[in-house]
Amino acid sequence: RATSEGEPLRAYAPSMGQIFLRRFQLVTQFRSALESGQVSVHYQPKVALPSRQVIGAEALVRWKHPEFGRVDPDEFVPAVEATGLVDVLTDFVMDKALERVSRWIDRGLRMSIAVNLSVRTLADEEFPNRVAAALTKHQVPPELLTFELTESGVMADPERALPVLRRLHTMGVVLAVDDFGTGYSSLAYLRQLPVDEVKIDKSFVLGMGTDLGDMAVVRSIVELGHSLSLTVVAEGVEDDAARDQLVSMGCDVAQGYLISRPLSEERFEAWLRARTVQ
Ligand code: C2E
Ligand code: CA
Ligand code: CA
Ligand code: CA
Repeated sequence: RATSEGEPLRAYAPSMGQIFLRRFQLVTQFRSALESGQVSVHYQPKVALPSRQVIGAEALVRWKHPEFGRVDPDEFVPAVEATGLVDVLTDFVMDKALERVSRWIDRGLRMSIAVNLSVRTLADEEFPNRVAAALTKHQVPPELLTFELTESGVMADPERALPVLRRLHTMGVVLAVDDFGTGYSSLAYLRQLPVDEVKIDKSFVLGMGTDLGDMAVVRSIVELGHSLSLTVVAEGVEDDAARDQLVSMGCDVAQGYLISRPLSEERFEAWLRARTVQ
């Protein structure tokens, strides 16, 4: 063997073929992974500023693959998105998420849940009907459901996405622009979208402590959002300094490791109990 002959060990770098094969396996195995319980939904709390009151959570999908281990959503969501299967993913996450909200309602808690939407879903004119059916099934009022969409997702096909967004908005569902500041960020466009919330991309929030440019971007998104009467959410809040800065800027909501990492259903509930007992 080459290595035993003294050739230095190289860091494992997958070839294009291996990357392609893995992607192919992820896509073909996704549906059975859902059915066999490998896929779950984690929850990351969102808190109001400056009160720190928990106002809800973002639902984030997780896949524990028997061979590959934990597969990052940044890898499998785009792969699944490229197929018709993304509807199955969105419906799965929405169902779990609304079930959570209905449990909270049963306990007298009024908290909302945010679900990420992919580009494909925004082009599906049947989607608002499925949302209405899911809200009815779980007896959840529409204002407790938020959809997070990326600007690039909307911009990819605005002719198709806009009617879907308008219908969701008319139903009373809350719409948020995710990763704000990274895409086209057209101010004029934001005004035309039926959105209620902007989520400042975590890259700016993470950079705020060391980069004055990032700080300026965050400050201007807060001002822009408020001038359009939108709720402004900061994600990627990792330390007290960032939170204090956001409070001084008047940012409405914070999400990030400072408050909590995304947690499994059970751990989220335990976190919530410990927090409300205080
Ligand atoms: P996203 O929607 O921008 O979600 C926020 C990501 O930031 C999450 O990564 C979250 O774990 C991470 N994060 C949260 N707080 C912090 C922090 O303080 N610091 C840092 N460095 N990171 C933080 P995650 O869970 O790996 O998800 C990655 C992306 O995958 C999401 O980005 C979203 O675009 C996509 N995704 C996740 N779940 C779903 C889903 O159910 N459907 C769709 N379509 N996409 C999803
Ligand atoms: Ca998101
Ligand atoms: Ca984001
Ligand atoms: Ca992202």
